[in-house]
Amino acid sequence: MQDKSYLKCINKKCGKEYPIPIIEFNCTCGNLLDVKYKDTPSQNLKEVFYQRRDPQGSIFNESGVWRFRELLNFCEIDTEDLNQCSQHLVSLDGAEGRQSKPYHMSKVAKFVGIENEKLMLQPEGYNPSGSFKDNGMSAAVTHAKLVGAKKIICASTGNTSASAGMYAANENMECDVYIPEGEIAPGKLSQAYQFGTQIIHVHGNFDDAFTKSLIDAKESGGYTVNSINPFRIEGQKAIPYRALEFLDWETPDWIVYPGGALGNTSSCGKCLMELYEWGWIKKIPRIAVINADGANTLDVLYNGKFEDTELRWNDGNPDTELINRYYIKMNKDGIRPKTKATAIQIGKPSNLVKGLRALEFTDGIVISITDKEMLDGMSVVGLNGFDCEMASGAVPAGIKKLLNENIIKKDDEIVGILTGRQKEPLLPINYHNEPSNQFAKPPKR
Ligand SMILES: *Cc1c(COP(=O)(O)O)cnc(C)c1O
Ligand SMILES: [Zn+2]
Repeated sequence: MQDKSYLKCINKKCGKEYPIPIIEFNCTCGNLLDVKYKDTPSQNLKEVFYQRRDPQGSIFNESGVWRFRELLNFCEIDTEDLNQCSQHLVSLDGAEGRQSKPYHMSKVAKFVGIENEKLMLQPEGYNPSGSFKDNGMSAAVTHAKLVGAKKIICASTGNTSASAGMYAANENMECDVYIPEGEIAPGKLSQAYQFGTQIIHVHGNFDDAFTKSLIDAKESGGYTVNSINPFRIEGQKAIPYRALEFLDWETPDWIVYPGGALGNTSSCGKCLMELYEWGWIKKIPRIAVINADGANTLDVLYNGKFEDTELRWNDGNPDTELINRYYIKMNKDGIRPKTKATAIQIGKPSNLVKGLRALEFTDGIVISITDKEMLDGMSVVGLNGFDCEMASGAVPAGIKKLLNENIIKKDDEIVGILTGRQKEPLLPINYHNEPSNQFAKPPKR
């Protein structure tokens, strides 16, 4: 009997509540749902989490997600009972989030133009399937198991399918993956094949594939693991938890993410709202979201570049008509999302409204950068001995731009999330073979 947690519509006027074991993640009013908890977690847990860094033989302490299990206990288990953990919590042998924490990277600091001590970057590429997606996926598949789902379904720009496929294989579930034909990096698609997923080609872009996957999920009773799934958002809270724990729960001034479907942005926002409400943090970091120039819906709407109107959360009642008019205009003018950073090549961010809430709560900001800037960002991360993909390169590149524009100040403390590891070998090869690139080291004869 689930009575300490429930789901709730994010729209303030609606606010409809639902029990935890459901598989439809849109409210009847069309808005997304939040996982809510009735109890306020004790701050003594900070010490418990710290002690679990010595895992004492438990994979749930090893896991960088489940180490914080009291803060996402939607299964309502006794979190100290190993049997209950094993029965309910889905984990790839404790590997999700295990390796990821923030690091100083001196060459990146130099590139963006700030003192090394002020900047930390957290490589989420060192997750078992190679991206931050494993944080949320372990939680979503935990919920899928709770409701007895046999098949999980997702549309993907690549990393979602790699992660979903991995957990599905490990849990003996089926997994259907909807992809825009020809738009997925082979390094990610190959993982989906390797993990035995069923690939479904959709003509069009990610947004089209996503729409098709939702229709089919409804028809076949499949369980959707895209980031409209509120349990994914819960699992991804572990990303800022790990960063904050590392900083002794002293918040930085900024947390910086690339923006695609805005699951991360939404999740970080929810994480900070909860921690603030519980009194765990006193200061709220500002979230900066970095869009690609070619896939900049959030930038356009948030910064008033469409109809001169700045789209805002507006106390839970954002101007959804404005969003619809922009999407209609995109269709009419044939504006298709276009960037080489395929992980953020998304025109209709499915978590847009939750993202707006996160931006409102944190006084966040949104900018766009070019593909070239992203490639430089990706490359300079490599020079510190860390691996990241092009979309993650948006983070150093965006921080550099924000420092140049004096929005981030020289003495601000920044945590940037490097969302995934390099899975497109040709990107660095081509980058380094073009001598005009800032960090290029072309081969010699
Ligand atoms: C999915 C993904 C993103 C986009 O994240 P959102 O939460 O959808 O905004 C960015 N980078 C990488 C590497 C990804 O896999
Ligand atoms: Zn509603």
